[in-house]
Amino acid sequence: MEISYKRDVKISLKSSFTQSERNAQIRVVCGPMFSGKTKTLIRVINEYKTLGKKVFVFKPKIDDRYAKDSIVSHDKDETSAFNVNRPVEILDYHLNADVIAIDEVQFFDDSIIDVCNTLTNNNKTVICAGLDLDYRGLPFGPMPKVLAIADEIIKLNSVCTFCSGPARISHRITQETEQVVLGEKEKYVPLCRSCYAELK
Ligand SMILES: [Zn+2]
Repeated sequence: MEISYKRDVKISLKSSFTQSERNAQIRVVCGPMFSGKTKTLIRVINEYKTLGKKVFVFKPKIDDRYAKDSIVSHDKDETSAFNVNRPVEILDYHLNADVIAIDEVQFFDDSIIDVCNTLTNNNKTVICAGLDLDYRGLPFGPMPKVLAIADEIIKLNSVCTFCSGPARISHRITQETEQVVLGEKEKYVPLCRSCYAELK
């Protein structure tokens, strides 16, 4: 009797999930500055919206270069976004969402890992975008761990300022030495591996 009871429970649990509610994924878009990360993120967000999915977008409060309540790509594609100080705040919003998109993930601390895992365990698709490397070419913030837990990784290149080769480093052209210095083309140029090595 007990065995058949357990078997019934197992079958009924399995059949209560549809395929789309299972195996939610963590998708990550990474690369240097000016590689189209945010543009790609906005494109994926719009694809999910076209499918009728509810998408909530988040970004760390630190990043207000373009707009306070939105994410904006360098060529001015835009979508609205919640600003949060800490990754755990994302969990306050997630119940009504099908998809959670997070931009500039490198500025969060390692608690973003638990948040991404919690969201996917609750069948929310998570799409993260961020810089994989800092201005010295070293892994940026929580990105190595975010990439480790990802199901899918899209790694973009920019175009090297000197040789037009595939750029992977956001080289800082000012003297500031902190890891986080917000800026655009007045502070950063994308460089390939060879040109960066020649500069050092
Ligand atoms: Zn180059």
